[in-house]
Amino acid sequence: MTHRSGRHFLQIPGPTNVPDRVLRAIDHPTIDHRGPNFAELGLACLCGMRQVFGTEQHVVIFPSSGSGAWEAALVNTLKPGDKVLMAETGHFATLWKEMATQLGLAVEFVPGDWRHGADINAIAARLEADRDGRIAALAIVHNETSTGCLSQVQAVRQTLDAAGHHALLLVDAISSLACVACRHDEWGVDVTVSCSQKGLMLPPGLGFNAISAKALGRAEEGGFQRSYWDWRPMLANNANGYFPYTPATNMLYGLREALDMLFEEGLPNVFARHSRHGEATRRAVRGWGLEVLCRNPEEYSPSLTAVLMPQGHDADALRKTILERFDMSLGTGLGRLAGKIFRIGHLGHYNDLTLAGALSGVQMGLGLQGLKPGDGLGAALDYLATANA
Ligand code: PLP
Repeated sequence: MTHRSGRHFLQIPGPTNVPDRVLRAIDHPTIDHRGPNFAELGLACLCGMRQVFGTEQHVVIFPSSGSGAWEAALVNTLKPGDKVLMAETGHFATLWKEMATQLGLAVEFVPGDWRHGADINAIAARLEADRDGRIAALAIVHNETSTGCLSQVQAVRQTLDAAGHHALLLVDAISSLACVACRHDEWGVDVTVSCSQKGLMLPPGLGFNAISAKALGRAEEGGFQRSYWDWRPMLANNANGYFPYTPATNMLYGLREALDMLFEEGLPNVFARHSRHGEATRRAVRGWGLEVLCRNPEEYSPSLTAVLMPQGHDADALRKTILERFDMSLGTGLGRLAGKIFRIGHLGHYNDLTLAGALSGVQMGLGLQGLKPGDGLGAALDYLATANA
């Protein structure tokens, strides 16, 4: 293997780069999770996460990936055979739909072209048509990580309200939390799902649910047969800062530090930073003469940009060249987008020069692939130099 000096550039849309401060925080002896010192850590993490989710209601933390938090949202609030409306925004929405189907839920999947957020008009039509109120939940992916399209959660909420529909609103905020405003209470979301390895700047390993009173009511009345994912023992133990089973203690050290970093920067500034880096990246893409996958400017993702390769060019060949020559990992095309796109993550622990480095690597890679790119990097740098940080 060729020797690599310097740091690897991890520019995928999650897992993201873990700040040194967070790594140092994780690097401490594990303590007794039933001992007196643990409760302070548990309560600090739960309290900080409530702030990040924009909720005064409950948040639970599972030792899990995001998929575990998806499953927890479904099995606590629904029961086998319940009808769920989901929106096809891309690969992750499709995976969540497959999980729901496997669990025994009756899923209606509102079609999408993987270049837009959730189709609000089509959702509205389904809700209007559901006269006998059979739809128990509506589930959407806020930021579709496979396409770089952001769905309008508030508009979805308004659609539910306009239809006077009782369905729960479940939102996957896995790659939007701590990158874009996610306002669980204000937007009337019933379960917001997230995990550690994206905007929270942690390694993979923690899954989250923010839970409304209505969702908790459904969980208390029924839900699936469940054990590990059951919110009830979790909430009972969390009240004093503890967990019903062994928590990911060292990840919680990291979470407490990451939350401190987010609050020191200020969440509005964190969101502005992501949005600015998104705009700089899109300027670079256009400067190269390439196309941003997301078709609707109002749905551009501040967390990542998916870039369409010109016909006849394989995005994975470009990624391979960039990895071998410049030691940078870019996101691959997932599902039906395999080989057609590459994704640039600009979320988490990130600054102007991280982005400049990433864009330089892409521009050089495009050149090596014979694509003769324009000076997209220059366009991005001009923007970064002038647009307020
Ligand atoms: N939802 C979205 C939007 C994601 O981006 C991902 C992973 O990247 C997932 C769900 C699944 O999360 P995990 O791979 O941690 O299970």
